Amino acid sequence: MSTLEESLIHCRNIYAIGRNYQAHARELNNPLPLRPLLFTKTLSSLTTQPLLQLPGSLGPIHHEVEIVIEIGQYLRPGHFANLDCLSRIGLGIDFTAREEQTKLKTKGHPWLRAKSFHHAAYVAELVPFNQSLPALQFQLKRNDILVQNGTTEDMIFNLDRLLTDLNQTRSLQKGDLIFTGTPEGVGPVENGDRLELVCESLNIHKRASVTMI
Ligand code: ZN
Repeated sequence: MSTLEESLIHCRNIYAIGRNYQAHARELNNPLPLRPLLFTKTLSSLTTQPLLQLPGSLGPIHHEVEIVIEIGQYLRPGHFANLDCLSRIGLGIDFTAREEQTKLKTKGHPWLRAKSFHHAAYVAELVPFNQSLPALQFQLKRNDILVQNGTTEDMIFNLDRLLTDLNQTRSLQKGDLIFTGTPEGVGPVENGDRLELVCESLNIHKRASVTMI
């Protein structure tokens, strides 16, 4: 078991934010949200291992590289959490079964089938959170080709706003993870793909590989 995996053993909730970057919302023909679009990913989806095994029966599975943040303390509902409550920040991939999601969206059904499956919540690395961090640029390369290149400056709802919104009507638990939304450039992964997640400001360079099972 890796150190990162051990450190996430007490994680109880994985939240995620949809459509938090304008260009990504547009690429999927979605309207821009007026408040954060919240959903959860099940704990059974969580992995820190770079040998990603994704179910081949779900149709196309898209990569969504995202800044991931971790809650460092219990916060009662209505505390209006801010950046002080964060313990770590890093990079992960919110894998999404895109055609399944489109079907569910059309019917107005929950996204669970499209967002929660084996290895759908990949946390590549987390480092201690530092309030003085600049805007973060982050990238995903697929088979050495740059496919996603984002900056937190382009978030529709910044980290402070996301935390306040999440904590308004629910407690936040120490160890909770939040996937904060993906920039443009999402697309399918295929069996044998090599992925590389990079955030220079956080000194993160992580490689992973995809096997469809
Ligand atoms: Zn996402």
